[in-house]
Amino acid sequence: MSTAGYGARPTEPTEAPAVRDMTIVADPTHRRHDPPYDLDAGQRRAPRHERAERVDRIEQHLHELGWLITDAVPSGNDPLTAVHDPDLVRFLRDGYDAWRRAGGAEVMIPDTHPSPRWARGGRRSRSLIAELGWWCFDTATPLVEGSYAAARAAVDVAVTAADAVASGTALAYALVRPPGHHAGPDYLGGFCLFNPAAVAARRLSEGGRVAVLDVDVHHGNGTQDVFWRDPQVAYVSLHADPDHQFPFYSGFADEVGEGPGRGSTHNLPLAPGSGDDTYLAALEQAAEVVDAFDPTVLVVSAGLDLAADDPVGQLAVSDDGLEAVGRTIAALDRPTLVVQEGGYAVDRLAEQVTRFLDGVRTG
Ligand SMILES: [Zn+2]
Repeated sequence: MSTAGYGARPTEPTEAPAVRDMTIVADPTHRRHDPPYDLDAGQRRAPRHERAERVDRIEQHLHELGWLITDAVPSGNDPLTAVHDPDLVRFLRDGYDAWRRAGGAEVMIPDTHPSPRWARGGRRSRSLIAELGWWCFDTATPLVEGSYAAARAAVDVAVTAADAVASGTALAYALVRPPGHHAGPDYLGGFCLFNPAAVAARRLSEGGRVAVLDVDVHHGNGTQDVFWRDPQVAYVSLHADPDHQFPFYSGFADEVGEGPGRGSTHNLPLAPGSGDDTYLAALEQAAEVVDAFDPTVLVVSAGLDLAADDPVGQLAVSDDGLEAVGRTIAALDRPTLVVQEGGYAVDRLAEQVTRFLDGVRTG
């Protein structure tokens, strides 16, 4: 763990910088969602990027560094349905098993998505595969037997960590998968089933204003949609320009929220290839927005796919840059919940997460 080199603070010349303790929550149920393939740009892709090994390696690394990992507490339906349509929750709970009983394949991937331009687009199909196409916006989010259990466990992890922060813990890390920030109030996609960061943010917003700072390389369209009209929760995202990077249709700078939430959504799209200097300058802008919103709690959607060696992301932030991102977050000096999102350089991810968390802890 790198804690050297930050120097003493001018006002406290004899003291080292304070290092924040950290509560870490995880749950092995995530392993039950590990589809053997998905479809990417027309290609069957295996092994897929979003797989159980990602989180297992992070957890193992943190364990070896001496961190205690806390188990999640079941959170029930209320926090989940405070964000997601109960019909979506029911479909994810029951749809796959019904599909298998009807003779469906082991991997459930939708092939029909109703166009929003259809005149009678509000009618849901009685076909299970077509209903999945109603809820799911892409082919990268297959369902398998344990998908619902894994997605529920991810929400439990985030809620458990959020409750620790609400109870006075200065820093908590929810080590979840599948990730969540592409999942919206009534849809899933982009590897995401439910949205743990959004569930946590809504729950924490019962105690005051919450800012969600999303550093994943992809725009968090789902989180943005959850809080689009909510003045209590700001959504601030840095991501690769959606003209070039998934989710393509969301994350442009002119998307600012609506109604009472107008002005509390901020998008900072960055050109593909942007490195540390460009990224950290934009992050300073984002930090000023967060500071001006003056949240009681900060939720960080921590996708480490902003890293230069990520196989999916189009940005180029170095390991030193990841730690600097963490330090900028620490400088906001708010109780902070870090929720794992993307990050697909499986061989490097544990080290990337550690560098990032070092920055958040040490400031
Ligand atoms: Zn991502």
